[in-house]
Amino acid sequence: MLRRQGIFAIISLIALFAILHLGFAPENHSPRTTGTTLLGGIAFLLMTCSIILSTRATVLENWFGGLDRMYQVHRTIGVLAALFALVHFFGVPKELPAGVDPALNVMVPSAPLGMLGLIFLVIGLFIALNRKIRYSFWRPTHKIMGLVYILIFGHFFTAPPVFVAQFGPSGLLLLAAGIVGVVCMFYSVFGMNRRTAVPFTIEAVNALERATEVVLKPSGKKLDFKPGQFAFVEISGKGWSEPHPFTISSAPHDDHLKFTMKVLGDWTRKIREELQPGGEVKVRGPYGCFDAESAGPKQIWLAGGIGLTPFLSKLRAMQPDDKRQIHLVYAAREEQDAIFLDELKDRAAQLGNVTLVPLFSDEGNFARVDMMKQKLPDPLDSYEYFMCGPKPMIDGLMKDLKTAGVPRRKIHTEAFEFR
Ligand SMILES: Cc1cc2nc3c(=O)[nH]c(=O)nc-3n(C[C@H](O)[C@H](O)[C@H](O)COP(=O)(O)OP(=O)(O)OC[C@H]3O[C@@H](n4cnc5c(N)ncnc54)[C@H](O)[C@@H]3O)c2cc1C
Repeated sequence: MLRRQGIFAIISLIALFAILHLGFAPENHSPRTTGTTLLGGIAFLLMTCSIILSTRATVLENWFGGLDRMYQVHRTIGVLAALFALVHFFGVPKELPAGVDPALNVMVPSAPLGMLGLIFLVIGLFIALNRKIRYSFWRPTHKIMGLVYILIFGHFFTAPPVFVAQFGPSGLLLLAAGIVGVVCMFYSVFGMNRRTAVPFTIEAVNALERATEVVLKPSGKKLDFKPGQFAFVEISGKGWSEPHPFTISSAPHDDHLKFTMKVLGDWTRKIREELQPGGEVKVRGPYGCFDAESAGPKQIWLAGGIGLTPFLSKLRAMQPDDKRQIHLVYAAREEQDAIFLDELKDRAAQLGNVTLVPLFSDEGNFARVDMMKQKLPDPLDSYEYFMCGPKPMIDGLMKDLKTAGVPRRKIHTEAFEFR
């Protein structure tokens, strides 16, 4: 669930900027100049926040509720930044404020930098928001946004009416934000992947029904993670392209790290067809806050298909003295598709506090809130819900749970996509 602290921090930063900008507006600026530069400054701050979020810093995960939520906010504020920048561009007065030297205006590159920044911003946003563009193409081109940021930094830094002629407190705030943003941008493009990589060796590649289990042995230190967290997996060697995110399906105490990957596109098919034991893998993480351990004593876990993986890790990690009362609803197309079903049954029988409810759609059984209402011993709002699976299933359940009076704070979801 998206946490409020992060959003509050972004709004506070923008409010501070607006107060400084309006409170110390130079006398020679018309209200229109003040207003449009305010919008331009807000656009730059939103871009800065978006770049800071792309560093995947752990502290930010706590503020926003996990990396998947951070990426959602990263995307939303990126779009907002573009809107503010467009209004700024079309609204800014053509004539310079009184007292600004026109010769200075032609000497500095502010206007061409702003124009270039805006063109690249629109192209970058089109690529970022176009879901038809393949991820492997999308990912490198998204780095264009780093260039946009530098162009826009140069634009406001050399804008004579605003900063060169008079560096007010709001300008200093933008300058400080810009320095932080540039450092974060370089870190996220060049340093982050190298710094966070943990090496593993492939121990086994197990074919499952429409999925592959990859078992990894640490080459050095083990990865410290909580059940339900995910990591980026990068296979070393030619032709493996970019890292892909997968939930860790093993338990933290396990000597091996396991990922269960559904065959979906080129990369996951290659995993199934070509990956061999003995190769090297880099794992980056862990990330995510899909944590059921600190939640209430009565929990419903709703897994759709491959969305079982976070719950698999949780079940494998669970101790026999666990006091929680858990209902695990595992929805799959057919029984054959329900990977690890036998292990789940055994585990539920061993633990005693877990009730397993397998549902197969080919038998006409779906995860439904009205069914839960009938079958559960206590009222729906006395449980805490954890859901992972296909988006339509999660959206439908979320809507029905809210209609049935379950507060949003009791519903936790994990999305298997960032875009
Ligand atoms: C937090 C998280 C946890 C996940 N856990 C699991 C899991 O436990 N098991 C599982 O089978 N799948 C999981 N996924 C989904 C998995 O990452 C994609 O199915 C996989 O990357 C598809 O790659 P592909 O090239 O084979 O398929 P494609 O058809 O190329 O991609 C299918 C979709 O996967 C996403 N995707 C593709 N490449 C990447 C990438 N490099 N980085 C991020 N997203 C990408 C895109 O949304 C794309 O539309 C998880 C995803 C996320 C975000």
